[in-house]
Amino acid sequence: MKKRILIATLIITLAGLTVYTAASVALSYDALIKSSINFLKGQINVYEAERFENNDAGAEEMSGLLGGLRVTFIGRDGVVTGDSGGAGTGIDHGDREEITEAIGTGAGSAVRRSDTIETVMIYYCKDFGDRLVRIAAPASSEWSILADALPLTAGIMIVDVALCFLFSYLVTGYALKPVRKLAEDSSSASIKTGYKELEPIAEILERKNREISSQLELIRLEQSRAEAARASKDEFIANVTHEMNTPLTSIKGFAELMESGGLDEKTEEKAVHIIKSQAERLTGLIACIINYSELDSDDLPRYECDACETACEVAESLRADIESKGLTLDVVTDGKALVISRREYLTEVFGNLIRNATKYNKEGGGITVRVKGGDGAYAEISDTGIGIAEENREKIFSRFFTVDKSHGGKHGGFGLGLAVVKKLCDKEGWKLSVESVLGEGTTFRIEF
Ligand code: ADP
Repeated sequence: MKKRILIATLIITLAGLTVYTAASVALSYDALIKSSINFLKGQINVYEAERFENNDAGAEEMSGLLGGLRVTFIGRDGVVTGDSGGAGTGIDHGDREEITEAIGTGAGSAVRRSDTIETVMIYYCKDFGDRLVRIAAPASSEWSILADALPLTAGIMIVDVALCFLFSYLVTGYALKPVRKLAEDSSSASIKTGYKELEPIAEILERKNREISSQLELIRLEQSRAEAARASKDEFIANVTHEMNTPLTSIKGFAELMESGGLDEKTEEKAVHIIKSQAERLTGLIACIINYSELDSDDLPRYECDACETACEVAESLRADIESKGLTLDVVTDGKALVISRREYLTEVFGNLIRNATKYNKEGGGITVRVKGGDGAYAEISDTGIGIAEENREKIFSRFFTVDKSHGGKHGGFGLGLAVVKKLCDKEGWKLSVESVLGEGTTFRIEF
């Protein structure tokens, strides 16, 4: 950019100087001619009719008096009667500009190239009554003036150009300083130029910076999501492997024991029972994992279902099991709770929550299923069970989280039930919450 500015300055300077020189030469030439004519005006007055004969000799005599200026005598008819050059006597000069003018106005002047002596001449002619007297002096041409002035002009031009160049160099450096600063600040979020001409560029740069940082933010977000997904997948695989290893170790151990033989009947019976129950646990685990994983890819069509009706059906299907454990079950519904979903999703959610309320209940405890329809429809599954400690209330929705870590423990769950409930609620846009008092009971609430 600096180079371009310098080149442009150089061209402008040269063009300016050329025009200026040409104009100066033209004006000087004009002034020179005018002063020469004035000089001739003064000189012509040496003419006296009685003194100079009206022939070549008279003209030569006057020329001698004027230091060799060419003198021509012309009759009022335009015919040359005497000429100090001796070349024009008898010739009609009536068409010459200075002569025509002198005949008309008494005096005339002209500048032109003389064919006789082949040089540019300044002519001044005056009407003295008896004859017209014309004196002429050679004039330098414009080109010769220019040629004479050329060395000096060229010198001035070179100095001028050098000065202009130096000045432009300094000014350009100074003028481009804000641009350089803008380039240095171009990556910052807020660019202050202090120059209104640069503000549009600063705004564009700021906008671009904002776009780049939001894109970078998106990329970072995508990366952390991908990392989180990878970590979650790894954790899922680790949990599944862990959950599978426990029953498999049991099965393998008891199978080897049986293979070694020598077990009494009672122990063998116990071993067979354990192998069967652990195999069933494995089957259950695989079913749970498949069910959980399928929820991700499942995008089946939705339709209108009544959450009240489904809750009743699920609760009634579990009533026998609940009552066999000495627990009571109350189902309270209020109108229709219509939701756009799938019946199997509602069945899964209510089933898991009612089964948990049964599993984690206390002897002689109770379960209440309450569903309210209409506006602000919700479902609540409450129990008077063991409750959930505050520090576990968030964790219970994580995959494979169980409060009781002993796999062969009282309930033996895999910790996937509430993870499925949470996933389904998120998928369907339902709000899931839990309230619990340790040792007193728990309520899960779903707002549709
Ligand atoms: P699982 O029941 O198979 O262990 P869940 O995901 O259904 O897995 O539940 C996770 C944990 O939350 C359970 O291990 C249990 O400790 C706790 N929990 C769930 N429901 C209740 C409840 N109604 N009362 C007390 N604790 C519960």
